Amino acid sequence: MSERVEPPRLHTLRAARLPVGMGATSGRKSGTTAPDMVSPRKCARALQPETIAAQAAGAGDVATGAVVPPIHVATTFVRDADNLYRRGYCYGRSDNATVRHVESVLAALEGGEASLLFASGMAAATTALLALERPAHIVAPTAMYWGLRHWLLEDAPSHGLEVTFFDSSDPDGLGNAIRPGRTRLIWVETPSNPIWSITDIEAAARRAHDAGALLAVDSTVPTPVLTRPLTLGADIVVHSATKYLNGHSDVVAGAMVFARRGAAFDRAARMRGVLGGILGAFEAALLLRGLRTLHVRVRHQSASALAIAQHLATHPAVARVLYPGLRAHPGHAVAARQMQGGFGGMLSVRVRGGEAAAISAAGRMRVWKRATSLGGVESLVEHRSSMEGPYSRCPCDLLRLSVGLEHIDDLIADLDQALGAVAAERGSGTELATADGLEPVVVRNG
Ligand code: PLP
Repeated sequence: MSERVEPPRLHTLRAARLPVGMGATSGRKSGTTAPDMVSPRKCARALQPETIAAQAAGAGDVATGAVVPPIHVATTFVRDADNLYRRGYCYGRSDNATVRHVESVLAALEGGEASLLFASGMAAATTALLALERPAHIVAPTAMYWGLRHWLLEDAPSHGLEVTFFDSSDPDGLGNAIRPGRTRLIWVETPSNPIWSITDIEAAARRAHDAGALLAVDSTVPTPVLTRPLTLGADIVVHSATKYLNGHSDVVAGAMVFARRGAAFDRAARMRGVLGGILGAFEAALLLRGLRTLHVRVRHQSASALAIAQHLATHPAVARVLYPGLRAHPGHAVAARQMQGGFGGMLSVRVRGGEAAAISAAGRMRVWKRATSLGGVESLVEHRSSMEGPYSRCPCDLLRLSVGLEHIDDLIADLDQALGAVAAERGSGTELATADGLEPVVVRNG
């Protein structure tokens, strides 16, 4: 086993996070990186995010010179003879050096002071909310990741969390939902899954701070490559790292990144240690491997998604394309301002002919895989309302597309053959379902 290598300390030295009852004693010593590696701390000027990601923030293995850091699997750590934990680690449910390394990389990419990794995106999101001081009123959008919306509706009240939903397509929606003096946190997701509506993060941050609340942004889809919510005034960024951050559909993980290492971070870190939601070391190592190619993946996927959206916008079998990169999208102007270098790799299409036509089109695809999730290297298609079930607000004619890294010609040809076959089969006119923020589309005889 190689000598212990601490992750790079890109940010303030973090004290050991000790499980309840074990007694915090001291912070840890300065970290080290292999001599030949580019550490952000050794560079005269700030490194670009691509460099930080590609080189895993400069950490490697001092003992061997390996360019990939070792995986720390230990669950427990030795106390010093005088009963202190000077090296900063105590027990694996609270902390782990591999996890901490990935947190440092993520904090650097998001421009935050601190980060916490979790065993899933839902673990990160629910911890962000459960860690709020009570009484707590939360404001959240109606158009958001279905799983968290369901939790807010069904479970949050039993934890003492009062929730008001707002329509992000209504300019007064957020302002009207805030309860001055009571609202502790505003949650936004932009672009929001699965209709990809856009929220102005700077405006939401102003509203949150005027009301004395925090702004949390689910930034799973844009990733720090396209949007950095903390630089726009948000306090907390949440990720399903299962998606683009890992990018290979082989890890379930979540993350929170904090603008400041303050009370919100302390409460969330404590809660993670108590509830045991930390990411495993092997998953963290896989996540780090995924992060090293994040920029090239997301930029390529965004460029392909835009090309596909433009192609489908005039497709006779498609009633509407939902993609913030299209000028016709109601959030395009805000998206163009707050997203840099692309509009993301996710889009949805509403298929002419309704639910049966949408399901049939997905069933005919060969290159696109019919599966839930998003952000991997392989392109996925999903009839979203089938997945979301009875609580769904998703139009039943909607197919969600997660664009991977395949050749664009293969992706477009597969969509064309599937949609073309369904259009050829279709009979009389059908009225498509209405959905949140979307007016009805009436189709008569194609
Ligand atoms: N946020 C968004 C935008 C998502 O799409 C998902 C999952 O699909 C989650 C959060 C939850 O993440 P996880 O599945 O990693 O718990």
